[in-house]
Amino acid sequence: MAARHGLPARMSEADVQAIDADPPPWLLQSRVNRTGKKPVWVQLTCSICGFSEAARPKKWWPAFTWISCDWHTPDELPPVASGTRRTEFDGIGSRFVGVVDEAVSAD
Ligand SMILES: [Zn+2]
Repeated sequence: MAARHGLPARMSEADVQAIDADPPPWLLQSRVNRTGKKPVWVQLTCSICGFSEAARPKKWWPAFTWISCDWHTPDELPPVASGTRRTEFDGIGSRFVGVVDEAVSAD
């Protein structure tokens, strides 16, 4: 089990505390799976460069069409499709901007 994630077979108490203080995404995921509750962590992945981090979703987060690091320029994202409107949400996770493309009515 542990070996699959590249952990040493024996971990010192300090190692355990370090990993517990800053758990990697796979550990968070396995904790979520173990409790069987609704996931309290989501994996945010930049649509442009692929940078990824686990974050606690906020209640106000919509379903993002795209996620990008906050220093990318908007034109690095796929163009807005005709008939859709793009809205950006700052402050997603530690460094992301969430982007939602939604259809706008013809009138
Ligand atoms: Zn990025």
